[in-house]
Amino acid sequence: MVSLVAFFIHRVELKKDLPILMDVNVYLIGKGNDWILVDSGYGRQSMVGALEAGIKKIIGRPQGLRKIVVTHAHVDHFGGATVLKRRWGLSVALHEIGAGVIKDFRKYAELYSGRTGKEADMFIQTFLRGICQVSEMTVDETLRDGDELEVGGHVLRIIHTPGHSPCHICLYDPDERILFSGDLVTGEGGTWIGYPSGDVALYLESLRRIAKLKLETILPAHGPVIEDPLARIYEIIEQKEKRLTEIYLLIKEKPRTPEELARILYSGLPSYGEWLKNVVRAYIVELERRGKVKRVGNDVYEAIS
Ligand SMILES: [Zn+2]
Ligand SMILES: [Zn+2]
Repeated sequence: MVSLVAFFIHRVELKKDLPILMDVNVYLIGKGNDWILVDSGYGRQSMVGALEAGIKKIIGRPQGLRKIVVTHAHVDHFGGATVLKRRWGLSVALHEIGAGVIKDFRKYAELYSGRTGKEADMFIQTFLRGICQVSEMTVDETLRDGDELEVGGHVLRIIHTPGHSPCHICLYDPDERILFSGDLVTGEGGTWIGYPSGDVALYLESLRRIAKLKLETILPAHGPVIEDPLARIYEIIEQKEKRLTEIYLLIKEKPRTPEELARILYSGLPSYGEWLKNVVRAYIVELERRGKVKRVGNDVYEAIS
């Protein structure tokens, strides 16, 4: 189908108002009276206010916006949706694996931080509800790999890209050769892969899968627009492989625990040390899978070859 009126993509850059959070890019896609939003930032008032103002400025009124597609169940992506769903009656779409996670924050805490019981409750109260200002939400539409989503006479294909999160998806526009990459490919900085939800092998596989697409532009959820997609994808693969090698060599030097490794790699352990240990642990899982290291004692790992 040939579209007579141009199809538009608008990028709204949402700025963080606390140092521990991240700036987030969201994308408003469509034309006329038919728009969807990709991702939504945190639920914090300042960010949702900026998002609402951005949407109104671009499409005039919110009535034309019908859906928010969330690339994965991380709070910087679905947070704004928890507010806008209530306020504007929008429907929210997410990969089927992620739906249960934002409906029940105990599952979120366990999957992404490894916390259970009282520790999970503390994390939910202070971080999710307190800092990120989100509430649990029921998803209206679940997505799967290969689904097609039509907006403004244009078709976007859903590509399941696990690794950073089990439910991560990208949206691919084959006509314009554009990929909305969420956190799979960032414009700058690295993508967090943490135990137990993160999987380095799946992440690398997802990157290799999207490298095979015809791509001219990648629009990431963090950082600038990527004009040379393949170069950036291979740069990220190289960074992850380099980190795997670094960790392997440190373990080869002498058997070590994830905590020791995190202290060396990140020069000490700041208050968010648990997160860094989980990052190291995700790399160790991959090294074990590759037959490079094995567990020899109480959380101690030794090199095999
Ligand atoms: Zn994420
Ligand atoms: Zn993110």
